[in-house]
Amino acid sequence: MRTFANILDDLSSGSNLSSDDMKFLLSITNKSEMQELFDYAYGIKSSNIGKTVYFRGIIELSNVCEKDCYYCGIRNGNKAQERYLMTEEEILNAAEWALKNKYGSIVLQAGENTSGHFIDFIEMILKKIKKFSDGRLGVTLSLGEQNKDTYRRWMHAGAHRYLLRIETSNEKLYRKLHPENHLYSARLKCLDYLKKLGFQLGTGVMIGLPYQTIDDLANDIIFFRKIDADMIGMGPYIVHKETPLADSFPNFDKIKEYQLNLSLKMIAVTRIYLKDVNIASTTALQSLNPTGREMGLLAGANIIMPNITDTKYRSSYQLYDDKPCLDENSSLCKSCLERRISSIGETIGYDERGDSKHFTRKKHR
Ligand code: SAH
Repeated sequence: MRTFANILDDLSSGSNLSSDDMKFLLSITNKSEMQELFDYAYGIKSSNIGKTVYFRGIIELSNVCEKDCYYCGIRNGNKAQERYLMTEEEILNAAEWALKNKYGSIVLQAGENTSGHFIDFIEMILKKIKKFSDGRLGVTLSLGEQNKDTYRRWMHAGAHRYLLRIETSNEKLYRKLHPENHLYSARLKCLDYLKKLGFQLGTGVMIGLPYQTIDDLANDIIFFRKIDADMIGMGPYIVHKETPLADSFPNFDKIKEYQLNLSLKMIAVTRIYLKDVNIASTTALQSLNPTGREMGLLAGANIIMPNITDTKYRSSYQLYDDKPCLDENSSLCKSCLERRISSIGETIGYDERGDSKHFTRKKHR
């Protein structure tokens, strides 16, 4: 029978993980073996991309959403949720704050909105950001499914990375988590457009979803390679009470530790398998454990996305329950993160864009 030690030995002699190995590693529950897995993945990260953590200041610019995903707190069907769109001035102020504070990059994220007005608005904002920052600020978009023309316009206006999670690579499971008109094939098509247009491509999944198996998660990692993703943003599924999926885990508190460990194992196995991609240690990890994001960094992630949205909007952008840092302004958030990151012996890549090494290496090949 294959053991954990066999897998590590094979890795050390240069072979990569098989799908069965991934399933084995994702199923480990023994604490010391888990720690060994995280340490191994951290070593792979350090030797492939160094010990620098890059910041992406995230601006959650609107919770207006056309979609009705069964897991998400800002789904259109959540009528209890008041809706907002930040003003141009508010968004630009946040972006300027990021530049001044030496964040190399920002992420503009929002619910899905395909209206002409919104598309124009984002294009205009991107052009202004490019102008005031002299093109120095890296800009990632996370604005859902759009048509090819829109993606092209946003790229020309100054965005160069796009994050669109596949949510799960199992199409059957995807169908269980979304209404009928949310098509898996449409999502794939968008990922394909983004890649062909030349964006640095980010994708990811939710971890620990109802009905999701260990096989699904191993297949997710294989999917990341198949579409040749440059960046991975994935995190634990966390219940939001006002959503249809909330009934699946009535005692969510009891499985928090399981969700956290499973997410950390996903980060570690993804790092070992893909080596030089950017992997985010997402905020959702922190809502399961106060030091969840540091744990993510120590299991192989290299990106943190500090929230730089105006505090007054934060409580309206609750994708899941107990989202952390609701009442912390951007400066507090920054000093708290600096402390946390130096405490684990990593440095912050200030004033650097921190592009995905996987992407830059491909370009130079
Ligand atoms: N509308 C955009 C981005 C906003 S949502 C888009 O669709 O890409 C950003 C991510 O939050 C989603 O991709 C999803 O993976 C995650 N998310 C939503 N609800 C969640 C929940 N209940 N628990 C954990 N993550 C969730």
